Amino acid sequence: MGLCYFEQRMSIMKVSGKNGTSVRKIINEFEGENMEYEIKTTKAQEFIDITDIVKEAVNKSGVMDGSVIVFVPHTTAGVTINENADPNVVYDILSALNKAFPENNGYRHIEGNSHAHIKASLMGSSCTVLIENGRLKLGTWQGIYFCEFDGPRIRNIYIKIIKGL
Ligand code: ZN
Repeated sequence: MGLCYFEQRMSIMKVSGKNGTSVRKIINEFEGENMEYEIKTTKAQEFIDITDIVKEAVNKSGVMDGSVIVFVPHTTAGVTINENADPNVVYDILSALNKAFPENNGYRHIEGNSHAHIKASLMGSSCTVLIENGRLKLGTWQGIYFCEFDGPRIRNIYIKIIKGL
């Protein structure tokens, strides 16, 4: 990452604030192709639509064709793509996950948050979206969701934009 990694951490900028969630861009380096965002979740468990953040990162990079990788460096949070037209869809996903993996279920992990680790693994740590003509090539009803399972916490999201893949 080099020295500029830390130098450019200083360029803090608020980019979104949906539902009381504070999302801040904290790193923008290597001509805007690697970015790190900080997100402050407000609930124990929630799905936060981060599609606009990923779109902004792609716009700033200036990359017209390629792909974007969204990576969540946490073991009790994840990222997934699903419907963003009806908010009940992600509500139902979270509800189903809670039924399948209740908070107390005889788990061995002493920290007491095994349910969150399991849900995070199921959602996954990363997703990739194609970029075409400078835009995310998502389906009509698709959005990108940050999935909090052990909040509220301050979390990070890494975004890497790759040209011409
Ligand atoms: Zn744990």
